[in-house]
Amino acid sequence: MSDGESIKIVDAFDLDDELRSLLKPGEMVRDADNRRHRLPRYFYEVPSHQAAVSIRLTPHFGLNEFALVDLKEAPRLQEFPRYIPCAVRVLAFYLEHFRASAGASVHVAVNGGYRSPAHKMSTHATPHMWGTAADIYRIGTTILKTQEVIEKFNDLAEQLSDDVTTYPYGHLTGSTADDHVHIDLGYVTVVPREISEDRMEVPQESRPRFAFEERRRRERRAAVESPES
Ligand SMILES: [Zn+2]
Repeated sequence: MSDGESIKIVDAFDLDDELRSLLKPGEMVRDADNRRHRLPRYFYEVPSHQAAVSIRLTPHFGLNEFALVDLKEAPRLQEFPRYIPCAVRVLAFYLEHFRASAGASVHVAVNGGYRSPAHKMSTHATPHMWGTAADIYRIGTTILKTQEVIEKFNDLAEQLSDDVTTYPYGHLTGSTADDHVHIDLGYVTVVPREISEDRMEVPQESRPRFAFEERRRRERRAAVESPES
């Protein structure tokens, strides 16, 4: 798949039983403060590792950077096609701005992007399960493990927008961080414009519903400007 191709979007209610039981579309989960949040339903379907690498969400962030997991993720969810909530593009947009203000490349950790509800680190709801959080362990050549460095980049991230939350420096896993910068946008879900929300229930037809995201505006313009290519 090349950059210009569309990304397939699926309604997770239409996926097979095993995938639905792992992704839990539309289910409610509690966060560490016992507040309930509804899990995302619409996902990008990533057909192959090659596609994950080639699909750019922003100029400097590929889809693969939010899909790096190890054995902590459910085995089925490590296989292709992989599924990433559509809100990940919104996160990538914020990280692109964060990268610009940091003036250096931003590296998302393994298990530091999207984590499914079945991931071993998903003991309660966190925005990682929405695709709207990133754990960053390195910025340029700086490893983020001192209080001074983490607080500096936390400040930089939070200055971008009030939408951005970070974990303060500390040693309590899940609400503070001492070896990375956690950036999240909260429990954002995206309903892609290509999707019709006519049915909220599980599928009653054997035919799966899906859509392809429209090509980016810039790509459409490029196609008009050079029709022969
Ligand atoms: Zn995190």
